[in-house]
Amino acid sequence: MPLALPGRLDRFTHLFSPHANGFTLTDSASISSSLPTLRVAVIGGGPAGLMAADMLAGAGPAVSVQLFDAMPSIGRKFLLAGRGGLNLTNAEPPEVFMRRYGAQGAPLLPMLAEFGPAELRAWAEALGIETFVGSSGLVFPKDMKAAPLLRAWLHRLRASGVQFSMRHRWLGWSEGGGLLFSTPAGPVQLQADAVVLALGGGSWARLGSDGAWVPLLAGRGVPVAPLQPSNCGFDVAARPVATAAEPVETRRDFFKELIGQAPQPAAGWSEHFSSRFAGQPFKSVALQFTDSQGRSFSRRGEFVATASGVEGSLVYAVSSLLRDEISAQGSATFLLDLLPDKSPEQVLVEIRHPRGSRSLSSHLKSRLNLDGIKAAILYELLGKDEIADPVKLAAGIKALPVRLVAARPIDEAISSAGGVRFEALDANLQVMVPADLRPPVFCAGEMLDWEAPTGGYLMTACLASGRAAGQGVLRHFGRQVSRQPGGA
Ligand SMILES: Cc1cc2nc3c(=O)[nH]c(=O)nc-3n(C[C@H](O)[C@H](O)[C@H](O)COP(=O)(O)OP(=O)(O)OC[C@H]3O[C@@H](n4cnc5c(N)ncnc54)[C@H](O)[C@@H]3O)c2cc1C
Repeated sequence: MPLALPGRLDRFTHLFSPHANGFTLTDSASISSSLPTLRVAVIGGGPAGLMAADMLAGAGPAVSVQLFDAMPSIGRKFLLAGRGGLNLTNAEPPEVFMRRYGAQGAPLLPMLAEFGPAELRAWAEALGIETFVGSSGLVFPKDMKAAPLLRAWLHRLRASGVQFSMRHRWLGWSEGGGLLFSTPAGPVQLQADAVVLALGGGSWARLGSDGAWVPLLAGRGVPVAPLQPSNCGFDVAARPVATAAEPVETRRDFFKELIGQAPQPAAGWSEHFSSRFAGQPFKSVALQFTDSQGRSFSRRGEFVATASGVEGSLVYAVSSLLRDEISAQGSATFLLDLLPDKSPEQVLVEIRHPRGSRSLSSHLKSRLNLDGIKAAILYELLGKDEIADPVKLAAGIKALPVRLVAARPIDEAISSAGGVRFEALDANLQVMVPADLRPPVFCAGEMLDWEAPTGGYLMTACLASGRAAGQGVLRHFGRQVSRQPGGA
């Protein structure tokens, strides 16, 4: 349903006129092409929207590009991503790289084939930002930061004529197909020949991408998969505390009968574990997980204990499987190998080694170098009987079941899954469902229905799809399409 248009908005149907809002159009007489000037609104100033604007601006003065963002400044999440070292892309072999997007991300592959890790590095270098390949193929700018890259990029965009309108929150469409914005000066409506939406996902809302666009598009009949946390942390199941008089199962059964469903399982580490180990890393461990459909994940790496569970790169890498298993089954249990360099037999031999008067903790430390958070999680998750039994303890060290009961809220996640479904889009990333969206709408970036692990895959796909959407607009209108951002 189109949004109702308050009467006073008509006065503001002007943004793409030569005199309003500092937006200058090149006089059509001075444009060598006989084609009329194409007015394109790009909404969303993250990497995807900026790349779309770059491609459009590369087509020259016959395309006028205005970029709108709800926030006071551009690229806030991009800048945050740079805080811990901006992982731009990944230099692993192309066939491995492409697999990171899974079946869901298959429609991205042609875009990534055109603008993949090598092209992305060349693009950064054209902006004066040298990159290097770190461990596991991760590619960073030489100084690790996002700000110099963003500065150079904005400089080029401005120089090529892109106009920026900050504090413009897109609210949907007017009856007449205009784009509605709220601005500090009041509501604004504008007309454009095409729109690129690059509104981001649903995490870190305070940086701008709050997912508020979902009902706007869904309300117009655009198929949108619900946004969900991706690359997220999880809460562990709390250890059940049962009294002899009221065993845990009896209590759960009682609630199930009373309210028709089992109560939400209690979550979190014990106070003892949480207060001592929240924020500490599990280094050099391995995580194995098989979901109820038989899909399996197994990898070495590291992750961190949080106040109520786990997060970090190794957990993020399996987060989509864990999240889906929790929503299907109520919980997901992964197996944690605390000593991946030792076989189960070696671990058992060391545990069985006579320990004399030493405590079990000192024994584990001296024989297996197992102490700190790695020893503590054994005491946290194994029962007394298992700790006392060498065979069960060895099994726990090599495959400790860690039961997760909830994904952390989407706002805390690195990225989100879900978004505009690819079946609603054509190869130009134009929204074709519904068929009557006017002006034509193109979508790019994290707001599309794909997900990928951390490791540079997110940024690469956002940039590649932004490039594809920018080119898509040009193709749709029969304009010349440049191969490179910046019009090279
Ligand atoms: C802490 C953190 C670290 C990260 N590190 C990395 C990393 O190192 N490497 C990597 O590949 N990825 C990383 N990511 C993920 C990456 O930053 C995102 O995937 C990427 O920024 C998404 O780009 P986008 O252009 O699709 O959306 P965004 O960057 O989210 O931009 C969307 C823009 O749209 C604007 N907007 C939203 N709604 C409206 C509206 N209604 N009207 C107007 N404007 C609107 C927002 O203000 C925002 O500026 C990180 C994410 C986080 C949170």
